[in-house]
Amino acid sequence: MTAPFISNACDWRTASLVPSFSGGKDSTYLVLRLHELGIKMADIVYFDTGWEFPHMDAHIAQVEDIIKQKITRLIPRESFDFLFAQKVRARSTKYSFTGYGWPSASRRWCTGQKQRAIDAYTKALTWKGFALPVIQCIGYAADEPKRVEKHSKTRLSRFQGFEYPMMAWGVTEAQALEYCKERGLFWDGLYDIFDRVSCWCCPLGGISRAEKVYHHFPELWQRMLEMESWLPEQYRSYAGKHTVSDLDRRFSEENARRLRQSPQEAA
Ligand code: SF4
Repeated sequence: MTAPFISNACDWRTASLVPSFSGGKDSTYLVLRLHELGIKMADIVYFDTGWEFPHMDAHIAQVEDIIKQKITRLIPRESFDFLFAQKVRARSTKYSFTGYGWPSASRRWCTGQKQRAIDAYTKALTWKGFALPVIQCIGYAADEPKRVEKHSKTRLSRFQGFEYPMMAWGVTEAQALEYCKERGLFWDGLYDIFDRVSCWCCPLGGISRAEKVYHHFPELWQRMLEMESWLPEQYRSYAGKHTVSDLDRRFSEENARRLRQSPQEAA
C-alpha cells in the first residue's frame, strides 16, 4: 500500500496511530479516511470539555458505528465550569479573582487543559504495551499551515510524535466537510450555521458567532448569561469589551428594530 502520509519521523506501518478527535469536520474526516484506508487506529481520543454542543453525542455514536471502533472519551479533572468561575488561581498581581473567566486569544486556558490531557493520555499508552512510537494524528487541514507550524513545536517524550495526515494528503476544510456529508454525517445542521462546531460558549468567534448562538440556541444563550453572572463584574468581557449581557441587549434591540421595520425597509 502507498504510504498514506509521509514523514521522516514516523513509520506509519509500525507506529501506534492515535487520532485526536474533536468531533468537528476535520478530525471526523481524518478518522473516517484512516478507517477507509484500512489503517489501524490503536486508539481514538476525544476530550469532552462539557461545553460541547448537545448534538455531539449522536455524532460520535454515528462515527463509532461507521468505523466499528469505540472512541475513548476523556473528561477534565476539574470541570470547565469550575475552572471558569471557581478555580483558585495562582497568585497574580494582575488578577485577584477566582476562576479563569472567558478564554481569549491570549488566554486559551481551555485548549491548554485539553491538549495536556490528551498528551498525558497518549504518553500513558507508551508504557501500556502499545507499539512505539505512539503517534497522535491531528486533523489540521491543508489550508491551515499556520496551525501545523505552531503545533509542531510542541515538545513530547521520545516515544511520542505528531502527524498531520490531512496536510500530507492536501485535504482542505471544505473538502473534509463535503466528504463527511457524502457519508451521511450532518451534525444535525450545525455546519449550516457555524464554520466550526467548537464549544457553544466559545468567545473566540466574536460577535457574529455569539449572534448565531443567540438566535439558534436560546437555551445555551441563557446559560451563557448565567455563566457570566458567576464572574466579578469587572472581568466579564466576552467579545472585545462587550459582555454577554451587552450583546444580549444589542441583539434584542436589533430584533425589535427589525420587527418594527416595514417589509420594504427590511428587504
Ligand atoms: S472551542 Fe473555544 S472555549 Fe472550547 S476549548 Fe477551544 S478555545 Fe476553548
